[in-house]
Amino acid sequence: MSTNALSDLTIANLIGGAWTAGSGEPIDVLNPATGEVVARFTASTDAEVDAAVAAARSAQPGWAALTPGQRSAMLHRLTDAFEDHLTQLIELEVIDAGKPIEAARSEEFPALLDAMRHFAGTARVLSGQPTGEYAEGVTTTVRREPLGVVAGITPWNYPLWQAVWKIMPALAAGNTVVIKPAENTPLATTRFAQIADDLLPDGVLNIVQGLGSNTGRSLSQHPDVNLVSFTGSVQTGRAIAHAVAEGPKRAILELGGNAPVVVFDDADLDRTAQTVTEAGLYNAGQECMAATRVIVSETVAEAFTHKLLELVRQVTVGDTFDDKTVLGPLISGRQRERVEGLLARLPGHATIAHGGVRPDLPGFYLEPTVITGIRQDDEIVQEEIFGPVITIQTFTTETEALHYANGVRFGLAGSVWTRDVARALRFAKDLDFGNVWVNTHLIVGPDLPIGGFNESGYGKEGGALGIEEFTRVKQVGIQITD
Ligand code: NAD
Repeated sequence: MSTNALSDLTIANLIGGAWTAGSGEPIDVLNPATGEVVARFTASTDAEVDAAVAAARSAQPGWAALTPGQRSAMLHRLTDAFEDHLTQLIELEVIDAGKPIEAARSEEFPALLDAMRHFAGTARVLSGQPTGEYAEGVTTTVRREPLGVVAGITPWNYPLWQAVWKIMPALAAGNTVVIKPAENTPLATTRFAQIADDLLPDGVLNIVQGLGSNTGRSLSQHPDVNLVSFTGSVQTGRAIAHAVAEGPKRAILELGGNAPVVVFDDADLDRTAQTVTEAGLYNAGQECMAATRVIVSETVAEAFTHKLLELVRQVTVGDTFDDKTVLGPLISGRQRERVEGLLARLPGHATIAHGGVRPDLPGFYLEPTVITGIRQDDEIVQEEIFGPVITIQTFTTETEALHYANGVRFGLAGSVWTRDVARALRFAKDLDFGNVWVNTHLIVGPDLPIGGFNESGYGKEGGALGIEEFTRVKQVGIQITD
């Protein structure tokens, strides 16, 4: 394990340009690949959250007064510095989030750098309605303005990714930010805040550390926060929706999912099995859009399952700093027990065709797991799995396939696999999910609006809509006749 990455990092709060330790309870950060404590910090109290929001509030008019070009230039400089520190940021993410280093190096972090560049540029391209005479003698113009102070509350599965997708568009639109990382994965986001501290005006980006139950709650309830951008569980999303209702203020809620992968008998089964293996086990399945819930035509179910098992058996589980490792650990002992609980409660008609056990490794690993014989009412279909588990359920008719796919409370993502264009279009229309793919899965990017329906939350991240979420619209009518 690389320990250098940790050497110049102290987990603390950044409030108005000053770094201070929280005065609340101590919290240990573990490496999920070893179970060892790698860092320790103290949580923020209500008073520290208050100070961070006040710092963001007082910095906001000055930040918003910059021209879009000036803000964009600063965010581009931050992006350049991010690129200069890429190796360290990757290692920090490997250490506390348990990511296999090769996937972080070749996929996640290049995509994150690309997102930084995209968001830095969007400061200059906010859209608006045309100015015109919509009433006789009155010219009306529409101004798009920043909201003020944005609170970002991030999860542990993509710690820095989620922070960047909240911080960058919020700042691009002229808001200031208070970010609270997940208590078990604060390393890379804290390093990011250190880098930003050297480049942005004081108070533009603030960070508070601590547990969700107090620091997160205090931030989301704060009356001087204008919008809470949250990614995480449905349960916490609900708590945040209640907190913002009190304001009332706005929220973006990116919550859980259990994405269906509907496979018809005319699909390219090799390609489908390959994608399900990759997109189902990526980040140890701790991915809200993971390709976990296969719903396959009964006529090809056996052939598909055989191909999938062949691939899953070849997945290398191991040390996160080993380039060959594909599957890393789950984030914590608690998360592994949660997934094992779902496996232990499987009904009699289900079969664990592969995995389901802990490998002989330290840390919080679970073997890649494939379960067959699943039915629609099973807990493992109806709940988010958030582990390296792929379930296989069969269907006989197209109507049944759609009914199974949509028959969950979530509405985040899903895919359909078929060579029949009309059927693909029918599913694109009828799947009740905010992100739908045909013959592929898990294609996301900062140019595209990500977001769920139903219990997966509301609001969009990315694309033009993702920037507009961080703005408010004001109409100004001006009498132009004497
Ligand atoms: P969580 O939702 O509790 O935590 C996410 C973030 O919210 C963390 O920063 C946490 O400190 C904060 N938080 C928690 N309670 C809060 C509150 N009352 N007010 C404000 N902030 C609060 O997630 P978890 O407990 O770490 O994981 C539980 C389950 O959530 C997982 O098993 C998984 O199913 C799901 N999850 C989903 C995602 C996703 O991207 N959709 C991410 C993480 C976890």
